[in-house]
Amino acid sequence: MKGFEYSCPTKIVCGKGSLAKIADELHGQGIAKPLVMTDQGLVKLGVADNLFKELSSAGVPYEVYDSVPPDSSMNVVNEVAALYTEKGCDGFIALGGGSVIDTAKGAAASLSAQGVDFSTLQGSEILQNDLPPFIAIPTTAGTGSEVTLVAVVADTEKHVKLSFTSYKLVPHVAILDPVLTSSLPPKLTATTGMDALTHAIEAYTSIQKNPVSDAFARCAIALIADNLYTACADGKNADARTSLALGSLMAGASFSNAMVGIVHAIGHSLGGLAHIPHGQAMMLLLPHCVDYNISQGFHAGMYGELLRDLDEACYIASEPDNRDMVFARKLHEMNERFHTEYGVPIKLRDLGVEPEQFEAIAKQARYDGAALYNDSEITIDVAMGILNAAY
Ligand code: NAD
Repeated sequence: MKGFEYSCPTKIVCGKGSLAKIADELHGQGIAKPLVMTDQGLVKLGVADNLFKELSSAGVPYEVYDSVPPDSSMNVVNEVAALYTEKGCDGFIALGGGSVIDTAKGAAASLSAQGVDFSTLQGSEILQNDLPPFIAIPTTAGTGSEVTLVAVVADTEKHVKLSFTSYKLVPHVAILDPVLTSSLPPKLTATTGMDALTHAIEAYTSIQKNPVSDAFARCAIALIADNLYTACADGKNADARTSLALGSLMAGASFSNAMVGIVHAIGHSLGGLAHIPHGQAMMLLLPHCVDYNISQGFHAGMYGELLRDLDEACYIASEPDNRDMVFARKLHEMNERFHTEYGVPIKLRDLGVEPEQFEAIAKQARYDGAALYNDSEITIDVAMGILNAAY
């Protein structure tokens, strides 16, 4: 066995009603006055209120930044860091999806580097200091950012999504409470859930995979496959929501160590240049990237192994030589089901992305950080072929 490293230091607090433990967790992290970060969608839906009520009833003073935009930006990161200092906060609570959590990570990193502009902090070697105490409360079951070493922030001027990676970016505590994801509508549940599934599949096939990341990836796939349809159909089903949140977290822990590949490389570029939301991009590209990999003989047999977790009955019923193909077909079927039942777009043309944009997207994908962990080069022709297949 090749030597490897694995790290997942985040304390995980999981279960229905676990948000009620926020005061204990703040105490445990030594936070007296947190900056709560969230977004307008969560404020309007009343999801953020759950947290504000817990803090008020525990007598915790706090400040709020509630205007994180989707995918965020360097400007917002720097604005948040300035607010944190101005208000005398001593820790972060990020309540939201990946956009909120990653913006908070960016601001926390900038503060740990004495207020340096986050966009200049490329590379883990520059983040020498620990982040301020950081509690992540995900409200989507998708990115896994509550346990990952990644922060994705858009550079809105250059139309590019930048991924920052450093072990210093891993949150100290993650609180998973199904009450907070119960308001996610079926479309967002499906796209963010397929994002988590993509993390697990790409981690399992990454050149940096290891036995521990494999175990987390496989467990994540089973949890997502068993609960995603239920969570879409019955959003208030706390068991399905909890299992999905755990699946997303485990997929995050897996890829935070193994990294991701071609789906993310092209998907980040689609996000930066065509403004396609991350989960939507992952869902749409995943089956086509798997088709491409199989056609080239990449990861032979691995997808077949994952079929056991995705659909055990299918695994048993299929011939060993055919299981990679059956796995790819199952991914297409999942997308078609979300399209038929909830109207989720599964073609680029339905999202307004046109073939004239493909070359620029393909060019940018080559330089995405995820391309480093793909076991083959993502040439312009390869990316264009996948984009055409997804059109
Ligand atoms: P998001 O945070 O962008 O949120 C999308 C929308 O969902 C927002 O309008 C938000 O208000 C809404 N929403 C969130 N929770 C909700 C709830 N419970 N009920 C109703 N609406 C809710 O979406 P996301 O997919 O979680 O995050 C995407 C971002 O995360 C992208 O920038 C992506 O690149 C990044 N990302 C980060 C990592 C990482 O490890 N750091 C991994 C993957 C993706």
